[in-house]
Amino acid sequence: FLWPIGAWTGVYERTFIAVKPDGVHRRLVGEIIRRFEKKGFHLVGMKLVQPSEPLLKEHYWGLRQKPFFSGLIEYMRSGPVVAMVWQGLDVVKMARRMLGETDPADSLPGTIRGDFCMEVGRNVIHGSDSVKMAQREISLWFNPDELICWENSSQPWRYQ
Ligand code: GDP
Ligand code: MG
Repeated sequence: FLWPIGAWTGVYERTFIAVKPDGVHRRLVGEIIRRFEKKGFHLVGMKLVQPSEPLLKEHYWGLRQKPFFSGLIEYMRSGPVVAMVWQGLDVVKMARRMLGETDPADSLPGTIRGDFCMEVGRNVIHGSDSVKMAQREISLWFNPDELICWENSSQPWRYQ
């Protein structure tokens, strides 16, 4: 079964999520995956990556002028990252809500950053901020053959 090619909205919308090195070191990978699974989102790609500096600079290109940029790249290079692609209705926006605010201090309890971290420079997880950025980030981190199209039999129990 193949998802309709080019269907990137609605139930087939996709986002790029990464558990950052602090999240991996702190054993939060399972908890984070559990939250996305329980919400009902559909996993289509996942791998453990030791990201290269060029990949990270490309990923955070929009922040290259920020004073924290080099520290951010160093932090992201310091350990493995769990890169994932999740699919589902409004997943880009909903994932950002599940993550909380960029600064954990502003993130409500119940969000991932609100529950598991304290500082903006160690905020355990990345999530794409728009559908366009999600497409860019997915193609940066994954080869097309690493994205698995599989039919989820619980779909009628998650969507009416
Ligand atoms: P995000 O989309 O919520 O991850 O936030 P941004 O795209 O604005 O920033 C990307 C990442 O850079 C954040 O998740 C933080 O890890 C880091 N970052 C953002 N702002 C700051 C800051 O003021 N200081 C430090 N040290 N890191 C920051
Ligand atoms: Mg961002």
